Amino acid sequence: MEHLAARQHVVDMCRTMLERGYLKATEGNVSVRVPGHRLYAVTPSNYSYDRMRVEDVCIVDFDGAHVPDEDRAGASLAPSIECGMHANIYRARPDVHAIVHTHQPYASALAVLRRPIPALTDEQVRFLGREVAIIDYAPSGTGFLAKNVQKKITSGDNAFILANHGIVAVGTDPERAVFNMALLEKVSIAYLIALTTESGKVYSIPAPIREIAFAKLRGDEKRIAAQITKAMPVEPVGSLVELAPLPSADEAASAAASARAAFAAQPAEPATEVPGAESARLGYAISAYPDVEDTMARLRALVDQPLRGLRHDALNDVHEWFETKCRASKELTDRAKARIPGGVQHNLAFNHPFPLAIDRAEGAHLTDRDGNVYIDFLQAGGPTLLGSNYAPVNEKVADVVRESGPVTGLFHEYELKLAESIHRYMPHVEMYRSLGSGTEAVMAAVRAARAFTGHKVVVKVGGAYHGWSDTLVYGLRVPGTFRMNAKGIPFGATSATREAFPHDLGTLRRKLIENRLRGGTAAVVLEPLGPESGTRPVPEDYNARVRELCDEFGALLIFDEVVTGFRVGMGGAAGYFGVTPDLTVLGKAVSGGYPMAGGVGGREDVMGVFGSGLDGKSGAHVQVGGTLSANPLSCAAGYFAIEEMARTNAPVVAGRAGDRLAAGLQRLVTKHALPYVVYNQGSIVHLECSGVMLLDMHNPVKLFKENKPRKQLMEQMGAAYTANGIITLAGSRLYTSMADTDAVIDDALERFDRVFSMVEGV
Ligand code: PMP
Repeated sequence: MEHLAARQHVVDMCRTMLERGYLKATEGNVSVRVPGHRLYAVTPSNYSYDRMRVEDVCIVDFDGAHVPDEDRAGASLAPSIECGMHANIYRARPDVHAIVHTHQPYASALAVLRRPIPALTDEQVRFLGREVAIIDYAPSGTGFLAKNVQKKITSGDNAFILANHGIVAVGTDPERAVFNMALLEKVSIAYLIALTTESGKVYSIPAPIREIAFAKLRGDEKRIAAQITKAMPVEPVGSLVELAPLPSADEAASAAASARAAFAAQPAEPATEVPGAESARLGYAISAYPDVEDTMARLRALVDQPLRGLRHDALNDVHEWFETKCRASKELTDRAKARIPGGVQHNLAFNHPFPLAIDRAEGAHLTDRDGNVYIDFLQAGGPTLLGSNYAPVNEKVADVVRESGPVTGLFHEYELKLAESIHRYMPHVEMYRSLGSGTEAVMAAVRAARAFTGHKVVVKVGGAYHGWSDTLVYGLRVPGTFRMNAKGIPFGATSATREAFPHDLGTLRRKLIENRLRGGTAAVVLEPLGPESGTRPVPEDYNARVRELCDEFGALLIFDEVVTGFRVGMGGAAGYFGVTPDLTVLGKAVSGGYPMAGGVGGREDVMGVFGSGLDGKSGAHVQVGGTLSANPLSCAAGYFAIEEMARTNAPVVAGRAGDRLAAGLQRLVTKHALPYVVYNQGSIVHLECSGVMLLDMHNPVKLFKENKPRKQLMEQMGAAYTANGIITLAGSRLYTSMADTDAVIDDALERFDRVFSMVEGV
């Protein structure tokens, strides 16, 4: 019989628990990790503890599959229905060797009260952790319960109360798990008695003592986790083709085509639909919102680990490739250094080891001056959701330019058509003002908010990029860095800018309270998926909570949808989250990749401050605009691109391509046992290999020590992707487009596979 020791431990634990009287009427389930494998031994479902024998104990893998012995021991019995919970705990907590789940009565009383146990004694903290938290209710044996447990278990505590259910206690070995279960029962009794006395208050131990005891416990846990991780062999997940099919962009494209045909066959004209209805019908690019707690936990784990980059020989090969295969690019961009500062002008073009000169862009591909062809996941930083150089829009734009030239300075019908089109898909954009770029549009939005509310202060979320205006180069990229990047910007320009830490509603509220004493907040401006296009993904309800805070404090809510506008869906992130901002900043996709990609829209009354021309005679309007603002070329390009995105449902098709890419990358990361973190929000795919974007001023020592090497790793991986025919955004972000068919994504995955096989330790 295999894994006898783990099985024997399970049986022994059951006996001990029975003998000591911890089981009343209903039992529970008990498991023990099989050292060195992604397996654990667990009690069978619905089986009495007193007749448990080693051969009855089931062996289950971390994906929930029952793996009975060759000699069929334990094959006839099904494992516990709570296997998902056990597996999630073992995955999230390498220090845990054994788990006990029971329905012991006193702790169950607290489970129905949903009352967590604070730190009552130092003994309690030393074994059970800072507190005994309540795990949200979900029915027994469900994936929901497993997920709720997973969310809490990373706290490092060793005992939890499952709301209206029972308890789960974990330990570094079987005896410790049983001990922790018993200790929890003792503490529960004491707490319940204390709560029922008349005297009222229950005292917990002082916080510093609690922290010292907890630090000792964490020290033990970390040491044991390191031993277990070291002992765990890397198990290959098998070849990609054997696994379940990846999500398909091709299927989404043909579904969009059929839906289009069916809709066209209906009598009603699409134009008669109420604004917003079409966006809802077309759906959104995000098929499943990422599990933010899990993603953040994985990102934090990545940042806590040493760097894993390319092997030295592989890195040399990458540099060699650039030197030999990109000679023409090097020659051109070297020459440019004499006339253009740095040799290139676009921030995204400052690539490692040197910039590439691109000659051709078509759909999903780019070709450089040397004739190298790349799969393009930069997509110009986001605007070309239809794919690069999209002929149907180009032709229509060319017709307009032939008629009117690119600019006249006077009104052109396409300005109106663009504003009407945006309103049709984003009904909250009641009025729209076309400007030159995302940066300009953010500046205009902030100015409008200040003029409309009469308040000065704007609050942004730390780490977000809102362009390079004087006001908002503040807390840029790295949360908590205030003016660190504000070179050339006088203090006065940022004196009414504030930064709230990402997704921390408490600090945001505090800022709003502080501002109230200093004349009020004009606006909160945020990227609705999270700073830097979701590099720290927002909790799903965050935007709604910020909306409530803005309403409470009389501030306007500005959504910077420069990236998300149309990319997340025709209704933008506002439509996806169902949260209505007062002002929306659009950019990038709003002109389909053509110039002058930017504009601000929103509530009619707020937008009134932009009244120009004759309307502005009251003197109330704010000054925005420019020679080329709202030119026919940009407006026609935007109008035709938007209509084409809706016709083809490009946001959703590109979203499925993002799903396929992210799922495939995750498989590769697992296959090569890399610590890299992959997740996507539709067509925005994050591939973090260094976690540099997660460093922040919460830990300034780590930030200043590790920022450079982690950034270098990101650049190095970006260069390796390029040398293998893939262009990414700074080696960590990938935008997909409608041109990314399943074949394109699969081609990319093979290339990533090659790069990952060159990583140290693989
Ligand atoms: N806001 C966000 C969220 C952006 O991503 C960007 C550009 N990357 C901007 C504003 C600035 O837009 P632009 O580059 O058009 O000035």
